[in-house]
Amino acid sequence: MLIEMEKRKTIADRAILEGIALHSGKEVKLKVAPAPPGTGIIFKRIDLADQPEIEVNPGQVVAARRCTALGLINNGQAEIKVSTVEHLMSAIWAFEIDDLYLELSGAETPVGDGSALIFYNLFKEIGIVEQPGKKFIYQVDEPLYVRKGNAYLTILPDDKFRVSYTLDYDHPVIGTSFFEFTEDDNFIETVGRARTFGFAREVEKLHSRGLALGGNLDNAVLVGDHKTVNELRYPDEFVRHKVLDLIGDMALNGQIKGHLLAVRSGHSLHVELASKISEKIMQEVNFNE
Ligand SMILES: [Zn+2]
Repeated sequence: MLIEMEKRKTIADRAILEGIALHSGKEVKLKVAPAPPGTGIIFKRIDLADQPEIEVNPGQVVAARRCTALGLINNGQAEIKVSTVEHLMSAIWAFEIDDLYLELSGAETPVGDGSALIFYNLFKEIGIVEQPGKKFIYQVDEPLYVRKGNAYLTILPDDKFRVSYTLDYDHPVIGTSFFEFTEDDNFIETVGRARTFGFAREVEKLHSRGLALGGNLDNAVLVGDHKTVNELRYPDEFVRHKVLDLIGDMALNGQIKGHLLAVRSGHSLHVELASKISEKIMQEVNFNE
């Protein structure tokens, strides 16, 4: 069902964030700007002619292998892309922002420290303002389920947004861990600061494919064969980061209500479920009209 709210939220002012992109390693600028009620979350590629816009929703996802990328498809090819949106989206979720322009000078968001912290601090500093305009939050009313191999993702009806995540990785440093998050928890203290991670033995392979070129010990946890190269922020930082990713991917549908049960899930499964949820939302919207 759709829960109707009377107010929408945007940010109080414009601001700029600069940094390097994780995969390309290039400098990138992110300008954030308030947007009028009903705009939604919109990326703009300000480095390209005509500054094409990409609306944030599961239908715009063009890739979900190592990160979630949104884009515009032309002749079956993603011509205009914005990659690695999940950490930024999780911060947008944390502040319940409904209307926002995200102007990027490249094809990827700045990585910051590999968590949602730079985006969280940016929005916190600017401040959030309410604006008139209805918004609808979708509360899942029947279980939805996706599976790929030994990775599972389910959402069950719940009056809150909850995540129960089981990470199970065949690697001695990561192993098996479990983390639960609900919308009442402090986002930045529990999951928002948890960093992305990569494996030392994969670095060369990733670099040869043009990935993780901007990755370093300031923006990722590097996992060696027997221990992490840099220190962890939490003993279970890996699973916390997976929860952060899942929140960011679910935020493609705004603020939904439901209990997510995830086992070994990654971006592609998250996006598959987000698309199913999006279909349900469209059905509800059409029914109500
Ligand atoms: Zn991530």
